[in-house]
Amino acid sequence: MAKGIAILGSTGSIGTSALDLIERLNGMGSGPRFEVLALAGNRKIEVLVDQVRRFRPRLACAGSEELAGQVRAAIGDLPTRIVSGPAGLRDVATMPGADLVLAAIVGAAGLEPTFAAVEIGRTVALANKEALVMAGDLMISAARRSGARLLPVDSEHNALHQCLRGERVEEVRRLVLTASGGPFFLRPDADLLEVTPEEALAHPTWVMGRKISIDSATLMNKALEVIEARWLYDIPGERITVIVHPQSTIHSLVEFVDGSFICQLGATDMRHPIQYALTWPERCATPLEPVDLAALKSMSFFTPDTRRFPCLPLGWRALEAGGTMPAVLNAANEIAVEAFLERRIRFGDIPRIITSVMDAHRPAPASSLEVILKADAWARGAADEVVAPRAAAAPSRTTGLS
Ligand code: NAD
Ligand code: MG
Repeated sequence: MAKGIAILGSTGSIGTSALDLIERLNGMGSGPRFEVLALAGNRKIEVLVDQVRRFRPRLACAGSEELAGQVRAAIGDLPTRIVSGPAGLRDVATMPGADLVLAAIVGAAGLEPTFAAVEIGRTVALANKEALVMAGDLMISAARRSGARLLPVDSEHNALHQCLRGERVEEVRRLVLTASGGPFFLRPDADLLEVTPEEALAHPTWVMGRKISIDSATLMNKALEVIEARWLYDIPGERITVIVHPQSTIHSLVEFVDGSFICQLGATDMRHPIQYALTWPERCATPLEPVDLAALKSMSFFTPDTRRFPCLPLGWRALEAGGTMPAVLNAANEIAVEAFLERRIRFGDIPRIITSVMDAHRPAPASSLEVILKADAWARGAADEVVAPRAAAAPSRTTGLS
């Protein structure tokens, strides 16, 4: 029987990669392996309409009622029910008959639907790391209660999942997350106060959405991933380390108490970890290219430079502070990244804005989704306040923040 799939964020980089993979895998065997039951996008209506035509889901969700109207008009007499907004996202996340929900919305917008899927016990293939950063404790407790399983799509955590198959967590000494280092690691001369969005978006090894590309350039992505790993594997932050590995071939490593390391390596193509999550607990033949080890020639490793990349240590700092602090870190980062992409602030302002918002926050226990969303809203307001005067000062390159 085909596995029923619902996809939150189907029009993004992860969503479209997943659908491409599903199409290829369905074409390989004797019958389709997956049935796409529900899709959710936001504003890219043409992409969503094309997906509805190709996959004929029972349900599709657009960002607003107006956009949903455009989708309805464009799909004509296809029977797909078109919904919209947060309620529509919840319908996609809790789609009856779905065996797996791919959570691939970017940012805090994915928290509530992902949480809804976890609460009803769905298997969730999790790409939306921000949801777990914001509400890790709640999400893991809800999964324990409902029996939901979280299968990480993020390549590092997916690698750890593979390294830990059949292993005992008590025998793990530490988790080692690899980082490509982003576009500036191998450019020590780059002025990290002034680099442009174009330079920051040019990732050396992965093609991804805009927000995560900037996060990779600041190394905030790795800070978020430290928090993500803490919750997925129930290992304290002090036993999670980061190493820069510019080839991005080893996707992460586990060091065991006896000094052995187990690592997972593979191509820099997100469809590999997506395939692992979609087919788990089985493995199946892939239509994708494997790594050519001989062409790779060498692999290198470096200690990350936290002076040039001050966002990285903020992940451990947020974990140590606990409670609502990771949600505050995430929200301030989302505001800062958006302001940078809109050229309202400089690249070097991103860590300063996040740090100042974290400095001003007194964390409360993250006891409910409401508490977390309140902290998220507070941090967005606080970050906006720091952004505004800096944005006014940004055109002048001689005055300001340094
Ligand atoms: P993207 O920007 O390409 O796509 C984001 C998706 O989220 C789109 O479908 C968009 O419509 C949807 N979305 C955004 N805001 C929304 C809202 N308010 N309501 C409903 N839908 C909304 O992002 P991406 O690169 O695909 O990343 C998605 C998630 O996966 C992120 O959390 C990212 O950190 C994670 N991730 C991505 C990659 C990658 O290679 N792209 C790798 C690892 C993890
Ligand atoms: Mg990653």
